Amino acid sequence: MIKSFGYAALAADAPLAPHRFERREPQPQDVQIEIMYCGVCHSDLHTARNEWGNTVYPVIPGHEIVGRVTAIGDQVSKFKVGDLVGVGCMVDSCQHCDACHEGLEQYCENGFVGTYNGEEGHTGGMTYGGYSNNIVVKESFVLRIPENLDPAAASPLLCAGITTYSPLRHWKVGKGMKVGVVGLGGLGHMAIKLASAMGAEVILYTTSPNKREDALRLGAKDVVVSKDRDEMKKYRNSLDFILNTVAAPHNLDLFLNQLKREGTMTLVGAPAEQHPSPEVFNLILKRRSLAGSLIGGIAETQEMLDFCGEHNIVSDIELIPIQKINEAYERMLKSDVKYRFVIDMKSLEQDSAA
Ligand code: NAP
Ligand code: ZN
Repeated sequence: MIKSFGYAALAADAPLAPHRFERREPQPQDVQIEIMYCGVCHSDLHTARNEWGNTVYPVIPGHEIVGRVTAIGDQVSKFKVGDLVGVGCMVDSCQHCDACHEGLEQYCENGFVGTYNGEEGHTGGMTYGGYSNNIVVKESFVLRIPENLDPAAASPLLCAGITTYSPLRHWKVGKGMKVGVVGLGGLGHMAIKLASAMGAEVILYTTSPNKREDALRLGAKDVVVSKDRDEMKKYRNSLDFILNTVAAPHNLDLFLNQLKREGTMTLVGAPAEQHPSPEVFNLILKRRSLAGSLIGGIAETQEMLDFCGEHNIVSDIELIPIQKINEAYERMLKSDVKYRFVIDMKSLEQDSAA
């Protein structure tokens, strides 16, 4: 077994704290990675605090991982020691169901294995995520990070990037389309960058009036403060597509009303409590759709990374030492982050020496 060190939550109401644990030795198809950076996703917080009711403790969150390959199994052909690589939300899937055959491992009919809080096939225990110094992952779930991108700012692409890229592609967002993004957090700011790089006109809906200028700088054409009834009249019945990234229950009708006939609103936010059910007439009178989307497959994640490499797209980040993770969670809950915390894993040395 490999000795590892990271930050874990031991209970729903416990802060994250230093934790020693073990990972499997690299198997013939495995890549061992020294983690340099790991983004902080709101899903990490939902899981650490057992808000989805499925957390097994201790849990080591983190699924926006960037690092260097330090060892490879003897059947690995795509990576060599020293490569800059990434790991996102999944580390395995059944590989034989229809979804896996179509490159949609996130919808694996037998359940994909999450990067953390998933069932580790080899050790019989759980998977542990990227708030740690190293990770061992099957080659087919390891991504290549374009070398022109800043590795710290690229780490959020592994979840926030693909979770927004995949629905934008699936609903064919591009030139000539008017696209709403709801919520300017980690996912929302990537959605603005990606949708505008795809050629769409992007309107941001936010509850935070002080984010207006940032949204315009990130590529939005306009900003609507969703609490303002007058502002909400401006694009009523006019949007082709909306990506809703909000991490809390809210009134979906507010945004469904912004869609034109046959428009779609896709939910990617995954709040602990349900949204109130929307008005049926808001859907049927204009043949609107309400949909959902889960991260993205491995091939599509590589496609997104290459797209970001070509367009020089990374996340706007605030780099933090891991000792600040609990504070970062509190700030994320207050929407006080521009726009993704990323942990500098060098900071772990401070605790491991202790
Ligand atoms: P985040 O950085 O905290 O951003 C969420 C944004 O939602 C906030 O910045 C805020 O934007 C808005 N918001 C928060 N509370 C709100 C409230 N009470 N009412 C209205 N708006 C509110 O979180 P994130 O990392 O982007 O993640 C967003 C959600 O997506 C989380 O639930 C996460 O678990 C989920 N997620 C889903 C997938 C998937 O595959 N579907 C993947 C990753 C994450 P404004 O200040 O602009 O209003
Ligand atoms: Zn995530």
